[in-house]
Amino acid sequence: MSTFLPFALPEIGQEEIDEVIAVLKSGWITTGPRAKQFEADFASYIGGDVEAIAVNSATAGLHLALEAIGIGPGDEVIIPSYTFTATAEVIRYLGADPVFVDVDAKTLNISPDAIQRAISARTKAIIPVHFAGLACEMTEILATARRNGLRVVEDAAHSLPTTYHGQKIGSLESDVTVFSFYANKTMTTGEGGMVVSRDKEVIARCKVMRLHGISRDAFDRYTSDKPSWFYEVVAPGFKYNMPDLAAAVGIHQLKRLDSFAVKRENMAKRYDEAFSDLPVISPARPAMPTDIHAWHLYPVRLMSEARLGRDDFIKEMAKRGIGCSVHFIPLHRQPVWRDGYKLTPDQFPASEKAYLAEVSLPLYTRMSDVDQQRVIDNVRDLIY
Ligand SMILES: *Cc1c(COP(=O)(O)O)cnc(C)c1O
Repeated sequence: MSTFLPFALPEIGQEEIDEVIAVLKSGWITTGPRAKQFEADFASYIGGDVEAIAVNSATAGLHLALEAIGIGPGDEVIIPSYTFTATAEVIRYLGADPVFVDVDAKTLNISPDAIQRAISARTKAIIPVHFAGLACEMTEILATARRNGLRVVEDAAHSLPTTYHGQKIGSLESDVTVFSFYANKTMTTGEGGMVVSRDKEVIARCKVMRLHGISRDAFDRYTSDKPSWFYEVVAPGFKYNMPDLAAAVGIHQLKRLDSFAVKRENMAKRYDEAFSDLPVISPARPAMPTDIHAWHLYPVRLMSEARLGRDDFIKEMAKRGIGCSVHFIPLHRQPVWRDGYKLTPDQFPASEKAYLAEVSLPLYTRMSDVDQQRVIDNVRDLIY
C-alpha cells in the first residue's frame, strides 16, 4: 500500500508564500493594506455592486451578520438540521433560538416547505446553507422571506464559487452572505471568512462590530492625518478582524479560484461516471445544467444493497490508506441541540436517512489522477 491519502489538503502556491513573507517583512502584520485589497478583490469577484468585509472566520461573519440585521433575545432563526454547528451557535450568541428544519431528500439542502411550516410570530430570519457547494432553492426561499417579512443570511461556507440561475452566490437578493476560508474549504486563508452585502447599513455595522465597536480601524488610525491616538467606541464590539498575514494568502487563492473550480468539477464528473453502476446515490447536481456547483464536498450515500454499511466502509477505506469523512452528523443528534430543543430523529426523516448512509470522498485540487483512480478502485472494490 502506498502513502496515506488524506481527506483534504490545501493548495498553497509560491505566490501565497512570497506574499506572506512580504507581509512579515513589511512591519504591518495585522489588518491593513492586504486585508483592504482582499476585500476589494473579493467584492469585484462576486460582482453585483456588493461590498465585502474580511473577518477571521465564517463563524465570526455569521455572528456579525445576525447582529447587524438586529437578531436578539426572543427571536427565532430557521436553519437546516443538516449543517455544521456554527450555523446554530451564532444564533445563541445573540440570545435568539435556532429553529431546526429538515432538508430535501434529493439535494440535502434546506426544504422550502419545511421553512414555511416552521415560521412563527417570533421568526426573524432564515439561514440557508448551500450544502457541499450546491445552491439552495433561493427563488422560493427569498419569496417566502419577502412574504413573511424575514431576513435571509446565506451560510455560503461551501459555495465558492457557486451560481444559482446564473448568478454568483453572494450577489443574490438576500441580506448578507458569509463565506469561509477555513483550511479545507475551496479556497483558504488558514482561518478566515468574508461577509458580503449590498446593504450599506449592514456593512457599516459589521465594520464597527468587527473591531471592538471602534468607529475607526487601526490602519486608518496610523495612516490618516487625524491624531492617531483618537478613537471612539460606539458599541461593545467583537475582535473578528482578518490579519494581513491571512489576507496575503487569500489574495492569491482568489486569483486561482476559477481554475480550482474547473478541476473540482472535472473530478466530480469522473467520480459520477465511475460510480454510475454502483449501489450509491451520487450527489445532486444543479437543476440548471449551466449553473456552477463548487464541489467543496463529494458526498455519496450508500444504498442498502451496498456490500458494506457506511461505518464499515469508512473503516475499510482507512485501512487502505484513504481518508473519508461524514457530512454532517445532523444537529438534531448533537447533545446540546437535541437536549436543549427536545429534538427527535422522526422530526428530520430526510436528514436522518442521509446521515446514516453518507460518506464524503476526498476531492481536492492537490489530488492527482492517480490519487483519484486509487479512490475509485477502492470504492468499487468495497461496494460492488
Ligand atoms: C466550515 C463551516 C462553517 C464555519 O466556517 P469557519 O470559517 O470555520 O468559521 C460554517 N458553516 C458551514 C456549513 C461550514 O461547513
